[in-house]
Amino acid sequence: MSLNHVRPWRNIYRRKSRQIMVGNVAIGGDAPIAVQTMTNTLTTDVAGTVAQVLAAAEAGADIVRVSVPDEASSRALKEIVAESPVPIVADIHFHYRRGIEAAEAGAACLRINPGNIGDEKRVREVIAAARDHGCSIRIGVNAGSLERHLLEKYGEPCPEAMVESGLEHIRILEDNNFDNFKISVKASDVFLSAAAYQGIAEATDAPIHLGITEAGGLVSGTIKSAIGLGNLLWMGIGDTIRVSLSADPVEEVKVGYEILKSLGLRHRGVNIISCPSCARQGFDVIKTVEALEKRLEHIKTPMSLSIIGCVVNGPGEALMTDVGFTGGGAGSGMVYLAGKQSHKLSNDQMVDHIVEQVEKKAAELEAAQEAAE
Ligand code: SF4
Repeated sequence: MSLNHVRPWRNIYRRKSRQIMVGNVAIGGDAPIAVQTMTNTLTTDVAGTVAQVLAAAEAGADIVRVSVPDEASSRALKEIVAESPVPIVADIHFHYRRGIEAAEAGAACLRINPGNIGDEKRVREVIAAARDHGCSIRIGVNAGSLERHLLEKYGEPCPEAMVESGLEHIRILEDNNFDNFKISVKASDVFLSAAAYQGIAEATDAPIHLGITEAGGLVSGTIKSAIGLGNLLWMGIGDTIRVSLSADPVEEVKVGYEILKSLGLRHRGVNIISCPSCARQGFDVIKTVEALEKRLEHIKTPMSLSIIGCVVNGPGEALMTDVGFTGGGAGSGMVYLAGKQSHKLSNDQMVDHIVEQVEKKAAELEAAQEAAE
């Protein structure tokens, strides 16, 4: 149960954005913040791309983006869309025909910059195709590919230039009576990104897609994204997020959820609270948590589990979690259920037993949720 009404210091007041639909996923307004990722296979490798889409969806991706660089990719996109359980966003650059083909192929959203897909007539054709096929559009401003006239005006990529670029693209869509769009203003620099996003958040009520572009590898990119996206989300800015990592898309989804979970903005699966361990630990905390993370990947119900090495912090943490285990020494520890001390358990049975307890609790929570609906 959320206790935010008695803990105002936990509240995040989300910016009020208008809501759009990306396929069957609502973005903006009071919709949950959607988690996205992007495939890194060749789009023409339909089997490989579909496998990545399925893995990302299984990990919790609400939406998956796929690059459409050529005509063969547009043809492949149709097959990928047909097999995807989640809406597919087509990533389009420069070629207006790809935008039209992607809309015809069933993409739920086109990621384009209206300013870089050709003259006005071509832009109008892409917008018409999006409208005809119920496609939304994401305007994707990127500090690395700002228009020449803005670079000349501002001298370098800066928040003002990025916001101006975003507003110019918004104007093109609005001039064509198209308001089914969201916007991103990404940069690889955290300060530049955060300032640009704050600027665009004030200038429009369009839903915002958050991302720190080219964030880096799994560890460095995760930290950069957590700082950049975390700060913006904390300010209430952001309706959908994509964590960009030089890593498997599944990792991007996991990191995205962890960022949202840390801020209490979205919950999925088991939130494991564990101590770093030290000489006082009554069992091997690190190995145990690694094993539990793998064994509990299939649980989608939001719930909490504390795995703490000793009684210094164990009982206190267990009070606030659905299932808890605290090391006690002499080869055994204490299991806590719903915050209450329940029974002793020997360390060698612990992983299997905790998995059972978590599965049982998840089933109870799901049944309670169904009964409430
Ligand atoms: S909870 Fe106990 S085992 Fe874990 S880090 Fe703290 S003192 Fe060490």
